[in-house]
Amino acid sequence: MSAREVDYLLIGGGLASANCARWLREEGAEGEVLLVGRELDPPYNRPECSKGYLRGEETREDPLFRPAEWWKEQHVELLTGTTVTKLDPGSHTASLSNKEEVRYGKALLASGANVRRLNVDGSELENIFYLRTLGNADAIRAAIDEVQDVVLIGGSYIGCEVAASLTMLGKRCSIVMQEQITLERGFGPQAGRFFQDLLEEHGVVVHPVQDLARFSGDGRVAAVHTDSGLELPAQAVVIGAGVTPELGLARRAGLEIGELGGVACDSRLASSAPDVFAAGDVCEYESVVHGRRLRIEHWDVAFNQGRTVALNMLGRDVPHDVVPYFYSVLGDWGELEYVGPAGEWDDEIVRGSTADGSFTTWYVAGGRVAAALTVGRSDDLDHARRLLTDRVELDEEAHRTLADPDGDLATVGR
Ligand SMILES: Cc1cc2nc3c(=O)[nH]c(=O)nc-3n(C[C@H](O)[C@H](O)[C@H](O)COP(=O)(O)OP(=O)(O)OC[C@H]3O[C@@H](n4cnc5c(N)ncnc54)[C@H](O)[C@@H]3O)c2cc1C
Repeated sequence: MSAREVDYLLIGGGLASANCARWLREEGAEGEVLLVGRELDPPYNRPECSKGYLRGEETREDPLFRPAEWWKEQHVELLTGTTVTKLDPGSHTASLSNKEEVRYGKALLASGANVRRLNVDGSELENIFYLRTLGNADAIRAAIDEVQDVVLIGGSYIGCEVAASLTMLGKRCSIVMQEQITLERGFGPQAGRFFQDLLEEHGVVVHPVQDLARFSGDGRVAAVHTDSGLELPAQAVVIGAGVTPELGLARRAGLEIGELGGVACDSRLASSAPDVFAAGDVCEYESVVHGRRLRIEHWDVAFNQGRTVALNMLGRDVPHDVVPYFYSVLGDWGELEYVGPAGEWDDEIVRGSTADGSFTTWYVAGGRVAAALTVGRSDDLDHARRLLTDRVELDEEAHRTLADPDGDLATVGR
């Protein structure tokens, strides 16, 4: 069969691909754009799967990146329910699961990530869920109607968000986690404690420092057991144990994999293969802002990297220099925003008070701001972006200003 020709092949039906398509058109790309995605849904905002959509506050259309007509108006061909099975960068061709062969000019690999599965005894029981797609959220919703007790495995943001959403739906939720404090791996114990308190005030029971041992039940899950002997009743379980990048296609195509386990890219998000870029959860890149390699699984990063790839496909030669941003929402109880990532840090400076529910935590590494987390002080994040990008060295005066709720952050480093 002869290959059809497209100028831009976007592999993956998530946000990174969708935003790349958008920016190709916004920046004047005239050629053919083909987006191929394995899921049946057109590109959508995945974060809603643990928030409004999971709670039934949103329709299936609400999380969509764009309505169906937009793709037609933009002359972007959307092939959903279709997998790219082979990528051959040498001949600039790709094979699709619908048996089509595509010859491309430039390609984006944005295959995203898959949930990390925990294979303990009892994993095959009914009502044990992972959460990555709208379909997964539908399955959880359908199952929990007749359920009282839900156990969330994992103390990172997915476990916390789902616990908040399902508590709001009237379920008794508990979290089983390896951490001492929720969210502490990414954000440290102070901010983590704030969010754990919020969860506990609303009735979520948190079981720290627990390793999952097994699930038990007769056909359907009935209890969660931990190594320390804890046994928790659970008629449903949602596991949020992190994700791993979807690298199958990249490996088979011979793309270089980086030290952080993503598709190795330069600062322009170009992979090791000619005319193949990567973006989103699968992308590991050289950050000109941080001076080190990064791989980040956040919505805003996928969004912005899609744009950077579009610009570079059009020959603009721009580095990806957006400071990564993350947000997480616990129902209508509270919300955090973060720029960074810090990775490791040696000091935390708190501005405002966690007791008032309005504070910013500055994460300091090597005498500079490496990241900032805020609750209710979003404006602080603009300053954090500048301090990060300019690599401002903090003196004593700067420390005082960062800690002072009324301090003028614009003076720090100037
Ligand atoms: C429940 C949930 C809540 C989240 N909440 C937040 C949040 O509050 N804040 C935040 O910053 N981030 C959040 N995230 C993370 C964020 O959604 C991801 O970082 C983002 O979706 C990554 O986008 P992506 O385009 O890189 O990959 P994905 O969204 O994973 O999309 C990749 C798509 O490509 C498809 N695909 C893979 N291989 C192929 C192939 N060979 N051929 C065709 N298609 C293929 C996949 O099936 C998938 O549909 C959340 C994620 C989840 C699951």
